Amino acid sequence: MSSAPKTINLYRPTFAEVDLDAFRRNVGSVAAMLPESSRMIAVLKADAYGHGAVELARVCESEKVGMLAVALVEEALEIKNAGVSLPILILGPLDKAQLIRAIHERFVIGIIGPEELMLLDAITMDKGLPVRIHLKLDSGMNRMGLKEEDLDLAVAVLERNRFIHLDAIYTHFANASDPDDPFTAVQVDAFHRMTEHLRTLGIEAPLQHAANSAATVRRLVKPGDYARVGIVLFGGESLDSGESRLEPILTLRSRVARIKRIEPGDSVGYGTTFTASEPMTVATIPVGYADGYNRALSNRGTVLIRGMRAPVIGRVSMDLITVDVTEFPVVEVGDPVTLIGRNGNEEVSAEEIAQLLGTISYEVFCAISSRIPRLYRSADELRVTSKFADDVGELE
Ligand SMILES: *Cc1c(COP(=O)(O)O)cnc(C)c1O
Repeated sequence: MSSAPKTINLYRPTFAEVDLDAFRRNVGSVAAMLPESSRMIAVLKADAYGHGAVELARVCESEKVGMLAVALVEEALEIKNAGVSLPILILGPLDKAQLIRAIHERFVIGIIGPEELMLLDAITMDKGLPVRIHLKLDSGMNRMGLKEEDLDLAVAVLERNRFIHLDAIYTHFANASDPDDPFTAVQVDAFHRMTEHLRTLGIEAPLQHAANSAATVRRLVKPGDYARVGIVLFGGESLDSGESRLEPILTLRSRVARIKRIEPGDSVGYGTTFTASEPMTVATIPVGYADGYNRALSNRGTVLIRGMRAPVIGRVSMDLITVDVTEFPVVEVGDPVTLIGRNGNEEVSAEEIAQLLGTISYEVFCAISSRIPRLYRSADELRVTSKFADDVGELE
């Protein structure tokens, strides 16, 4: 399984490889976790957490995916304009201009508060256009969603406005990643109480959804409900305990650009934060914080070369890092480098990097910048996308 990167002639040899077959298998694994009558909403916001929303949306079209979800109108447009025909839920929040555009594009709108619902009421009455909504209830996160005291107003709008079609009612969990945290049960109860309240007021929706990846992995999806899953599809860890990963689908790669010997007393990089105390061999890799390789990994990160771990020494600069390869029996300019992912028997996971940075893998993925070309690999194709020219030369 040598996935030694092909050369993309025009580009620096630093890119993120996304395994579409592994993504497809993860979709299948998540589908197998769901009750028979349930389907998933694949959450592809933030360019599918940096993996590439359009490419992954295309894979979703052939699977047990009922819908896609994104945060922004522009994200929904990107997917729709690429020819993907799955319905798209926009999680929002949306302002007036965005609501109007979303209605015209026939996106499904996640309504996150009474103000937004009233705005939608006014717009749809004014334009005479129909819209499908998912109504978000705040079951305890206090970020988005209608509170108990907003329900009367919501009912009044939904009863008089025949343009607004309530397709689903949903909520979002704050702490589902920790099975021992009692707050998820508190939220489940609150959500149930609020949907019952709505029912007594005459409002019901054909569909409900609450579970994110963590809740889905914990089998908390109720029969018939949808699950909104993001991180688990990308092979990221959804539970705090760190034991629920599916297949990681992204590998961040580069190649050794320069190797040099340094002597005791020599320092490396900006700020001279690393000084050799013995003769060392240092490899320079063309990736830096402008690519999403966080500067806080200075003197802390690890990369993989020839199946071995090489510690980052010195500061991460904008375009470059330096790593210690003193103990390597062989290392050459041009050697493949793995920054995130597997190489031989070793792995640097997004979770390992996240832990060093005091964050979560979500942010590590999202940080991989648009300067990094994405290379999509599957059994029958290899495709590159980049913010730079499409003319990337021949794949070797
Ligand atoms: C991002 C998001 C999700 C997906 O969360 P994961 O933990 O990645 O599964 C689900 N629902 C909402 C409302 C979100 O914003």
